[in-house]
Amino acid sequence: MRISMIGTGYVGLVSGTCFSEFGVTVTCIDKDAGKIERLNRGEIPIYEPGLDALVTSNAAAGRLSFATDLGPAVADSDAVFIAVGTPSRRGGGHADLSYVYAAAREIARAMNGYTVVVTKSTVPVGTGREVERIIREERPDADFDVVSNPEFLREGSAIQDFMRPDRVVIGAESERAQAVMRQLYRVLYLIETPIVFTTLESSEMIKYAANTFLATKITFINEVADLCEKVGADVHDVARGIGLDNRIGRKFLHAGPGYGGSCFPKDTLALVTTAKEVGSPLRIVETVVDINAKRKRAMAERIIDACDGSVVGKTVAILGLTFKPNTDDMRDSPSLDIVPALVEAGATVRAFDPEGMDEARKLLPDITYGADAYDVMTGADALVILTEWNEFRALNLDRVKEVLKAPVMVDLRNVYNPTDMVAAGFRYTSVGRPTPD
Ligand code: NAD
Repeated sequence: MRISMIGTGYVGLVSGTCFSEFGVTVTCIDKDAGKIERLNRGEIPIYEPGLDALVTSNAAAGRLSFATDLGPAVADSDAVFIAVGTPSRRGGGHADLSYVYAAAREIARAMNGYTVVVTKSTVPVGTGREVERIIREERPDADFDVVSNPEFLREGSAIQDFMRPDRVVIGAESERAQAVMRQLYRVLYLIETPIVFTTLESSEMIKYAANTFLATKITFINEVADLCEKVGADVHDVARGIGLDNRIGRKFLHAGPGYGGSCFPKDTLALVTTAKEVGSPLRIVETVVDINAKRKRAMAERIIDACDGSVVGKTVAILGLTFKPNTDDMRDSPSLDIVPALVEAGATVRAFDPEGMDEARKLLPDITYGADAYDVMTGADALVILTEWNEFRALNLDRVKEVLKAPVMVDLRNVYNPTDMVAAGFRYTSVGRPTPD
C-alpha cells in the first residue's frame, strides 16, 4: 500500500514513520521546505524519543520519503492523510480549518483513481463532510471517500502510543474505505487492538469528547489538591485512593500547574464553541477552561508567596519550560503564563529546559537561559520546578542548597517528598500536600 501524509509535524511525522514501519510505503509532505530539507539530510525537526532511529531505518529501506510537492505522491496513493495544524482561530475558540481545507483542495487536484482521504487532524464535527464537498466541487469526476481517523498519540511517548494504541477510531461509511483502513492498520489487528468503526460525525466527536474528558479529569484533581491544602489532606493519597477504583482509573490524577500543550487548550475551547453554537452548551467544559486559565495565574502567586510575598529585585530559577517532559513543544505551556507573571511582578527569571529552550527563546525573550539546572539556580532566591524532566527528579539537594541564595523550592509537579525536603533544610512548597513544620 502507498500513502501520503500531508503535514509533517508532531502527528504527521510520527504517524507516517510508524505506518512505514508497518510496511506501508509513505511520503511525508510539508509546505515548510526547511523541514523537508532537514528530514532529507536525516535530521529530525522535533524532539521525540526513538523517532530518529525509526526515520533512519525506514528511509534507508525505501519505505519513507519526504517532499514539498504533494502532486506525484498523492496521484500514486491508496490513502492520503491530512495531518496539518488546527490551531485556535484568532479572537475566538473556533478551530482554524483553513489549513485542512487548503490541503483538501490540493489533494483533489492531484488525486488519480480511487483514493481514501483521511482527516487525522483534530477537526470539529462536520469537517469531514465539508472536505467531501470541497473535493467534489474541485473534481466532480473524482472517485474517493472521506474518512475520519483521529490521532490519540501523546508527545513524549508518541511511537509507543501509535504502535500500541488502546484503540483506533475510524469514521468510514463505505465498505471500500473500511477495507483500505483495515489493510493499513493490519499490524494492529494482529495484536488485537480494538478498532472502532463509526460514522464521520461520531469519529470526529470521539476525539473532542476524549480530550475534554481528560482535561476535566486533570482540572478536577487540581481543584481537589487546592481543597486538600486547606483541610490538611494529601492529594497523592487521595488520587491513589480514588484511582484504584476501576470506574475512575489511576491515570490523569496528577495535580499540577494546570494543563497546557498543543491539544487540550485549543480542543476544549473548540468544543465549547461548537456546543454553544448548536444550542447544547457543555457547561462542565466551559468551567474547566475558566478554572485552568485562572490556575496558571494562581501558580505565579504561589511562587511569589514562597518568596515572602514579593519577587521585586529577586532572582527566580525555573527548571522546565515545555508543557511536559520528553518534548520540545512549547505550545500553550503553563510556563508561558507563569514566567511573564513573575517578570511583571519584578523578578529576574533564569531558566533551563533540556529540549525546549530554542523555542522558548522566541516566546519568552525577557528572561535569561542557563547551561544546566545548577547554572540557573546559582545565586537565585528561589527554585521552581515547572516540568518534571527526569534530570530534575534526582538533583543533588546538598549542592542545590549550597548554590541557592535562600533554600526555597516551589515544586509544581510534586517531584520531591515534603518530609524529606524539610528535613534537608528547604522551605518547600508543592501542590495539594501538607508540608511538615
Ligand atoms: P504541527 O503544527 O506540528 O504540524 C503541522 C504541519 O502541517 C506543519 O509542519 C505545517 O507546515 C504543515 N502544513 C500545513 N498546511 C500544509 C499543507 N497545505 N500542505 C503541507 N503541509 C502543510 O501540528 P501537530 O501537532 O502535528 O498537529 C496536527 C493535528 O493533529 C492537529 O489537528 C492536532 O490537534 C492533532 N493532534 C496533535 C497531537 C499532538 O500531540 N501534537 C496529538 C493528537 C492530535
